[in-house]
Amino acid sequence: MSKQDIEIAQSTEMLSVDEIARKLSIDTSTLEHYGKYKAKVDFDALHTTEKKNGKLILVTAINPTPAGEGKTTMSVGLGDALQKIGKKAAIALREPSLGPVFGVKGGAAGGGHAQVIPMEDINLHFTGDLHAIGAANNLVAAMIDNHIYHGNELDIDPRRIMWRRAMDMNDRQLRSIVSGIGAKTNGMPREGGFDITVASEIMAVLCLSHSLDEMKEKLSRCLIGYTFNNEPIKLGDINAQGAAAALLKDALKPNLVQTLEHTPVFIHGGPFANIAHGCNSLLATKTALSHADYVVTEAGFGADLGAEKFIDIKCRLGNISPDAVVIVATLRALKMHGGVKKTDLSKENNEGLKAGIPNLLKHIENIKKTFSLPAVVAINAFPDDTQEELDILKETIQAAGSRVVQSNVWAEGGNGGIELAEEAVRLCDQDTEMTFAYELTDSIETKVDKIVQSVYGGRGSEWSVAAKRTAKRLTALGYADLPICMAKTQYSLSDDAKALGRPTDFLVNIRELSVSAGAGFIVVMTGNIMRMPGLPKVPAAEQVDVDNLGKITGLF
Ligand code: ADP
Ligand code: MG
Repeated sequence: MSKQDIEIAQSTEMLSVDEIARKLSIDTSTLEHYGKYKAKVDFDALHTTEKKNGKLILVTAINPTPAGEGKTTMSVGLGDALQKIGKKAAIALREPSLGPVFGVKGGAAGGGHAQVIPMEDINLHFTGDLHAIGAANNLVAAMIDNHIYHGNELDIDPRRIMWRRAMDMNDRQLRSIVSGIGAKTNGMPREGGFDITVASEIMAVLCLSHSLDEMKEKLSRCLIGYTFNNEPIKLGDINAQGAAAALLKDALKPNLVQTLEHTPVFIHGGPFANIAHGCNSLLATKTALSHADYVVTEAGFGADLGAEKFIDIKCRLGNISPDAVVIVATLRALKMHGGVKKTDLSKENNEGLKAGIPNLLKHIENIKKTFSLPAVVAINAFPDDTQEELDILKETIQAAGSRVVQSNVWAEGGNGGIELAEEAVRLCDQDTEMTFAYELTDSIETKVDKIVQSVYGGRGSEWSVAAKRTAKRLTALGYADLPICMAKTQYSLSDDAKALGRPTDFLVNIRELSVSAGAGFIVVMTGNIMRMPGLPKVPAAEQVDVDNLGKITGLF
């Protein structure tokens, strides 16, 4: 049996984080060390270097299968390959959450020979950012209930508090709770619940802030509930922004680590990809761009959700744009899109593959037409892929006029991604002018329709009475100019998880809307969105162990 991810990671000798920083000409006096191999980069390092802007390469994918198609693995391998061909490269990724680490999906530091290390630390507590975000979130929650307890001067309606408590764990038991019960001194009884920390608005705020001042301002704008009179109550109304920002002062600084091949990696921020925008912090991306010539970054889920939100939210708010886009595809996922059963995906099936390729073609079209960006397809090769299948895929993509490259970074590390790196560099040299899927001045309904029609390939949207009502209220409250954050299944281009391949002529059902006024977007929900996942029957946690010397096993 081949080595497990964690065994590969643990058998690699790491360079000190100072050496990694020096590769990017980051002054090591601006590092705050968390042991020998992890450091936070102080705000100074962002601003003292002469303004130099690297090229940004976005890694996205087709609609995934439940296991993930290898975007992180590809991002890491591409970064390593860029370093191998002599480029000053860096990678910017999200921080893992304990929920998936102990649940189904496992960690988020890449796989095989394309990983970020120390993977145990990164997947577990890392530098404490998620704990800080949870603490800041829960401070606000405590202050809201405390305000009500002490007389409720603001007239907050306890039934309409939107701010929930947060914890970094998959714990369905806490999804809905009744709190404040018992004696009069225990607070006002009310219904509430917990979200997983990465789904909290504070996480999204942190990821979209350039400075502590900006973060404080965004925090004070967060909508926390309504009064009995239907007036909005903001976080600033209970004066929580200063203390919350104080708790977040270190969490806002990007974390620096390395790949197995010692390419510098910023791992920072990890907002949920459904109710938030699903990519690492703006500050980490910009720090990477000001120190490296090529920066590889990843956006969550497929290009319909991840790349769309990366461009329409993160790029728009941060005034950045990718120079090239890599679309990851696997034969197994394409076969699934072509109707092949999940249990048969490792078997050769040329017809199934051909039937699934239209899903990939739609994502290529989106990147090139909707967003006007150059794209290359990276086939993430799996051990049981056959040459004939690989050839069919390559020929079909080329015949459709697009670039396609096979990548073996999972098996070979950077060496397996040289061709992809060269193609990415070539694409970065072209002049591009990115376009958005919608204008901020469009109405909320128009923005949604434009996304559905141009990105998903559907006919339009169908709104529930509740969603229509909320759209009207949010417009009246002055939020209509915000970008849209679609919360939709990642498995299909449509809102129906079972509609694989390239569905057409569908309507997307808009169930409800909410505003993340601090982070700065309107969340459009197209189904039931889980903000607190649960663990599966046999959680990954059951495999994880640690020996008496502190060596961890079973993480993947
Ligand atoms: P994503 O970022 O798209 O969610 P990841 O890069 O995290 O996907 O990969 C998901 C899982 O698939 C990881 O456990 C990784 O080791 C595995 N994986 C990725 N690429 C390959 C490959 N080419 N062969 C075998 N396993 C792979
Ligand atoms: Mg990933």
